[in-house]
Amino acid sequence: MPSHNLAEVKIDDLEIIGYSVAGEETVVAVPQLDVCFDIGKAPDQIISINHVLLSHGHMDHAAGFAYYLSQRNFCGLPAGTILAPWDLLAPMREIIDSWGRLDGNKVPNNLVGVQPGDEYQIKPNLFARVFPTKHGQSSVGYSVIEKRKKIRPEYSKLSGPQIVELKKQGIQIDYPLEVPIVTYIGDTQYVDFSQLKYITESKILIAECTFYETDHTGRAEAGKHMHINEFAQLLEKLQNEHIIIAHTTQRTPMREIREILKKTLSPEIYDRTMLLMDKRRRPPA
Ligand SMILES: [Zn+2]
Ligand SMILES: [Zn+2]
Repeated sequence: MPSHNLAEVKIDDLEIIGYSVAGEETVVAVPQLDVCFDIGKAPDQIISINHVLLSHGHMDHAAGFAYYLSQRNFCGLPAGTILAPWDLLAPMREIIDSWGRLDGNKVPNNLVGVQPGDEYQIKPNLFARVFPTKHGQSSVGYSVIEKRKKIRPEYSKLSGPQIVELKKQGIQIDYPLEVPIVTYIGDTQYVDFSQLKYITESKILIAECTFYETDHTGRAEAGKHMHINEFAQLLEKLQNEHIIIAHTTQRTPMREIREILKKTLSPEIYDRTMLLMDKRRRPPA
């Protein structure tokens, strides 16, 4: 039996599996893209995913990273790659070393320090781009972007041999195209993410919105999290086809969160939005 009962969302050919409750645990994976955003307590279902993209060092998001690495070794998988804000690398290495001493086994790992603006290649055409968030000193979010080459419209009707001939002549028949597939914002207070085109146009947005009640605005501010009133403002400026809300507080019952969401968001945005942890989640249209 798996260690966790994870929420599952299916969007076209992508599956999003995860668990995300504020202060308890956050781990959200997209197995087809071979990425797991944050690691939570390292549920069994994500051990085989080769890339963990860590947003910040809070225990509810990062606790399982050493176990993830060690389980991969135990299962005969290659060392897991963990992207993390660069200043977390030294303490992460200390933790891995300490576990190595406790456990009596070295823990193979591939830690990659990142900062906003960096890109990391996940697959030949798939990249994780790092952007800044406002939660801690070096907290970050990630967009997974597919890079394609698109044929210029004037050449789109040519046959294969004609294209080969043009290429031989050194004519540029295609142009680079970026398709942002999924963006994970992680923990953050309000930031106008619409300034980054790849976030605005990301097909799927996975975002925290921790607090909902009017008198929880102070809590949101203190914990550097988003309140629904701010999140609603942000969504007005974004164009994501699917919005998945994560990191909901346990202080407000899910039923109430659902109602507040419906009241606060415009019907058009509400239709594109779902709560990851809502057992009565509507299937995406
Ligand atoms: Zn958190
Ligand atoms: Zn946090």
